[in-house]
Amino acid sequence: MEQIGIELEQAVEIILNTGNRMKRTQFVFTKEANGRILAEDIYASFDNPPFHRSPLDGFALRSKDLVGASKEMPKPIQVIDTVYAGGFCSRTLNQGEAVRIMTGAPIPDGADCVIRLEDINGGFNEENTLILVDRELEQYENFCFKGEDVKKGTLLLKKGVKLTYIEQGILSSLGVEQVKVYDKLRAAVFATGDELIEPGTELKPGKIYDSNLLMLYARLCEFGITPVIAKHLSDEPEKVADAIKQSCERVDLVITTGGVSVGDKDIFHEVLPILKAERLFWKVNLKPGTPAMFAIYEGVPMFHLSGNPFAAATTFELLVRPYLAKAGRDESLYTVRKRAVLEDDFIKISNGRRFIRGKMEEGKVSIPPAAKHSSGMLASMAGCNCLIDIPTGSGELYKGSEVEILLL
Ligand code: AMP
Ligand code: MG
Repeated sequence: MEQIGIELEQAVEIILNTGNRMKRTQFVFTKEANGRILAEDIYASFDNPPFHRSPLDGFALRSKDLVGASKEMPKPIQVIDTVYAGGFCSRTLNQGEAVRIMTGAPIPDGADCVIRLEDINGGFNEENTLILVDRELEQYENFCFKGEDVKKGTLLLKKGVKLTYIEQGILSSLGVEQVKVYDKLRAAVFATGDELIEPGTELKPGKIYDSNLLMLYARLCEFGITPVIAKHLSDEPEKVADAIKQSCERVDLVITTGGVSVGDKDIFHEVLPILKAERLFWKVNLKPGTPAMFAIYEGVPMFHLSGNPFAAATTFELLVRPYLAKAGRDESLYTVRKRAVLEDDFIKISNGRRFIRGKMEEGKVSIPPAAKHSSGMLASMAGCNCLIDIPTGSGELYKGSEVEILLL
């Protein structure tokens, strides 16, 4: 059932109930998996490190050979080999033997501890084939065990995790070359309006350069979703309907701006019936961007946002972003809410709910001058990093009041 004039929370609920979580998966190279959502549990397929290794440069030897060693009675130990990281010593140490060993090198069989190079106070012979050790060592002193980092079979990364450089490092350390991840959402973005022209064309009377198409395109890219379709469309309902129809087979969601209010050219009142799309809501109690519309066409959710640039930016955050988080399985996209103290007055009375732009720093939020808040104005949003959520019926707000903000 369609809802007209609803609260933001209801709108978000409708949107989230509509969206299916991404089911398609693909394999990608671990090195290209940054920002992707893992679609499988990852277990360690072997112990890591795969062998006992030395944590320092010194000599690997047998602790029992050093029993009784002291300054007065140093023990002579025969150095039979040298092992570097990447190499290995195939011989088992016999009584009275040691190998010179470097950090990261495998500890040979028979050895159960490592003495630091600096601790060989008794000295070396000329050929470095004999050392005099003047202290005892505990068994497993300076000894890194095989599997100390990760035991074979351990669940290392859970399905649903967003892969960052750390997870990529973990995968690489386990020799995982490719991982199964969820497909990215495929989005189509359309900016409608006969007045719009694109940068690169000359500005003509009555025309304006488009802000929304590029803005939303870039925002989606920031979220790791490069739109597969991004187009400017004129205010012709048939053509807009056609463009949507063409795109719907190729995308998981459609976002449009413009044409949702009550003017003659607010074409979505015609576009949706042409498509026989199901409109789930229209008009949300918030400013800017009240006339936002949400519909489903051929199973694809469509967000129709107001064309006013600040309104488009705000309703994108409030309505589209939660959908991207859920459907794209990217928890990190859910908007963070915080409390902050106003640094400036905001004396415009809010009859309905209002979102204004702000700049938050260390718990304090400053706002541009009141004249710069109109929904059509984007320029004053430069440098802003949050939206201030001003509830319905708030009176004048003064410096020092506590407000709720949404981080952008
Ligand atoms: P509309 O939502 O189509 O009624 O447009 C509301 C206001 O936003 C009008 O002043 C439009 O010219 C302007 N507008 C619509 N779309 C865009 C856009 N993509 N870029 C910049 N301004 C726009
Ligand atoms: Mg328009």
